Amino acid sequence: MAQSYPDIYHTIIIGAGASGLMCAGSFNVRKLVIDHNPAPGAKVKVSGGGKCNFSNTRISAANYFSQNKHFCKNALAAYKNADFLKLLDDNHIPWTKTPSGQLFAHSAQDIVHLLTRRAQQANSRLWLNTQVLRVRQETTGLYTVQTSRGKLSAQNVVLATGGLSYPALGASAFGIKTAREMGLNIIEQTPALAGLCFTRDLRRQTAHLAGNSLPAHIQCGKFSYRGPLLFTHEGISGPAVLQASLFWNEGENITVNFLPDTDALAFLKEHKNSPKLFSSLLAEKISPKITKALLGEGDVSAANASAACLQQAAQRLNHFVFIPQSTSGWTKAEVTRGGVDTKEINPSTMQCRRLPGLFITGELLDVTGMLGGYNLQWAWSSGWAAAKALEKIF
Ligand SMILES: Cc1cc2nc3c(=O)[nH]c(=O)nc-3n(C[C@H](O)[C@H](O)[C@H](O)COP(=O)(O)OP(=O)(O)OC[C@H]3O[C@@H](n4cnc5c(N)ncnc54)[C@H](O)[C@@H]3O)c2cc1C
Repeated sequence: MAQSYPDIYHTIIIGAGASGLMCAGSFNVRKLVIDHNPAPGAKVKVSGGGKCNFSNTRISAANYFSQNKHFCKNALAAYKNADFLKLLDDNHIPWTKTPSGQLFAHSAQDIVHLLTRRAQQANSRLWLNTQVLRVRQETTGLYTVQTSRGKLSAQNVVLATGGLSYPALGASAFGIKTAREMGLNIIEQTPALAGLCFTRDLRRQTAHLAGNSLPAHIQCGKFSYRGPLLFTHEGISGPAVLQASLFWNEGENITVNFLPDTDALAFLKEHKNSPKLFSSLLAEKISPKITKALLGEGDVSAANASAACLQQAAQRLNHFVFIPQSTSGWTKAEVTRGGVDTKEINPSTMQCRRLPGLFITGELLDVTGMLGGYNLQWAWSSGWAAAKALEKIF
């Protein structure tokens, strides 16, 4: 028997990801949530290595990158980390806190189930395996949503289609294409929270280090971060590098301190009469394999080293400057930097200023969080903000 659907939906939410599901579950109105994936919350399910780093104990606008640093404040204040923790506690979902303040679930799947159930309890019908092909505002002010299952009509539409990274998990350019077609300004999108690739020569010099990691300090313009760095076949990755990638623009320098706790010049000078190679002298502080790769022919015996050679070696270790060839790209980046210009959006409601009834949430907006649970917190807060505005529309 054919099911009956309303002629005009109050709201159609496009994207059953983090922000779309949060939005759907936070206001009790008959609505439709559409996703082209076979299951909801694909990114949430794999987030945090399957444990979902859903938020952080310290959240502020300083943890976000955007053309407008203030935009995220209202939504983050209206729906906080504590609100999400309460939601988990109320539903008996266990979570843990790391010493650095990252909040993790024991299983990301628990969070996907909770968000999906909550959305359904709040009167949301979920259409999966359904692609949204086009959204258009009619002269009546209503929105026409063209899907692979036919044409629908809605009073309000929430674009919650996320960023461009990880196309294998359902990411698509649909949201940004639609926003552009509707005349919204777009801030250029680039992969972020991604590894950084070396140029060919440097890659040749370090490829055999792939899999080795060490604590490092990374500087990118005014931004600096200390944390684990991992060598990869392409260049470098690991938390410190992912953080730096959020602030990096093509052509800019990155400076790495591979020995953040040691003044390499002072140390090498102290041992300047030693017959040992620099890599052996430093063996207790940094793997000789890494020192050898970084210094190349400059890894000489301290006793034979000229003052310039000593200085150069110390510089390579404490102040290694390079220009990345690129980031590791859309297939590996955790998030998208850039998106719909926040000037187009009301920061308390996520509604487009110029298009009443059109709401945009989550990663599709030009709000990108650092590594540490900030992007999911943004998805929860922006989804909640849209829901609270939508429940007031009759
Ligand atoms: C591997 C990985 C790990 C991550 N880990 C973390 C973490 O631990 N902590 C953290 O804070 N952040 C993490 N993130 C980032 C976080 O998952 C995202 O920022 C967040 O999911 C964005 O929420 P969203 O609602 O904007 O989009 P999404 O959650 O990506 O949801 C968008 C949805 O829209 C659907 N869609 C797209 N186009 C269409 C279309 N045309 N028709 C129908 N449906 C469509 C997609 O299938 C998807 O389900 C991670 C990201 C990745 C890729």
